[in-house]
Amino acid sequence: MVANDMEQQCASDNYSGICPEAWEAMREANTGHALPYGDDAWTARASELFRDLFETDCEVFFAFNGTAANSLALSALCQSYHGVICAASSHVETDECGAPEFFSNGSKLLTLPSADGKIAPEALRELALRRSDIHFPRMRVATISQSTETGRVYTVAELEALAETSRELGLLLHMDGARFANACASLERSPAELTWKAGVNVLCFGGTKNGMAVGEAVIFFNKELAADFDYRCKQAGQLASKMRFLAAPWVGMLESGAWLRNARHANRCARHLATRLEGVQGIELLFPVEANAVFLKAPAEKLELLRAAGWRFYTFIGGGARFMFSWDSTVERVDALADDVLRLCC
Ligand SMILES: *Cc1c(COP(=O)(O)O)cnc(C)c1O
Repeated sequence: MVANDMEQQCASDNYSGICPEAWEAMREANTGHALPYGDDAWTARASELFRDLFETDCEVFFAFNGTAANSLALSALCQSYHGVICAASSHVETDECGAPEFFSNGSKLLTLPSADGKIAPEALRELALRRSDIHFPRMRVATISQSTETGRVYTVAELEALAETSRELGLLLHMDGARFANACASLERSPAELTWKAGVNVLCFGGTKNGMAVGEAVIFFNKELAADFDYRCKQAGQLASKMRFLAAPWVGMLESGAWLRNARHANRCARHLATRLEGVQGIELLFPVEANAVFLKAPAEKLELLRAAGWRFYTFIGGGARFMFSWDSTVERVDALADDVLRLCC
């Protein structure tokens, strides 16, 4: 046996393990034989559950991770000469090693500066209309993260405004929902309201950070955009041969409601940390805490003290120390972090 000897950390929501609901569904799927490559009952059931959850007849695909889901989704929307508009801080731009460009054979990501990771309709319009000559990529897609890399959420009204502007500009709207569940929990709006009803064309729904081992669902609300997507997945090495083990955890998550429960819990932990730190002299939080992330701004030497006290965190996102919470975060650990921040960083 190898022991996980790490105390609970808040550096990312992928430090946690698999939640019981996902684990139990995998265990149930691990009996007997089933057809491979998605022709099994678990994959059919998971797809049905997504159609129920989104209250529409959407096309559902499963990929191993978010980089593949985003990149393949964008490549399905683009020709190689197209442009994709995203926030400068977006995961597709900063954390996917050029995979969106690679899988689309060269579609260019065009970034918008954004203080909080969100894109505003006016900025989108300005960039989309900046050039229309043959020498510049032809604008095709706007992609947004919900919740954002900085823990903000787009309200329904904001989504509708972005979708409206996108439509006017002839752009499709893609949503990176690695933390979509956290946005649903935060806004208390339905998955349908936060996607197709607001005008989103494609969603990558994250399972990993929500409590699964692996697995993201790519959900096309316009079926014609999903044409041949199964071939893209296969070519990219994203067609699981034992697909039931990617699909079963989703069945567990969606049937039990764990997807939303987990997100609510993670959001509450972030809120708890924020509540303990807000208003304290010398402490500055960088962004409103709307999902499962808290960003602390503090001088490098203070953050070093926090590191020396055993805390792990990243500082390359958002310009501060990021703390993220997941389905299994404990209040005791959040309080211990708050205590140390108050002791060491004021
Ligand atoms: C984690 C994350 C992803 C997916 O990353 P993978 O490591 O490829 O699974 C995508 N988008 C955002 C915003 C993320 O935080």
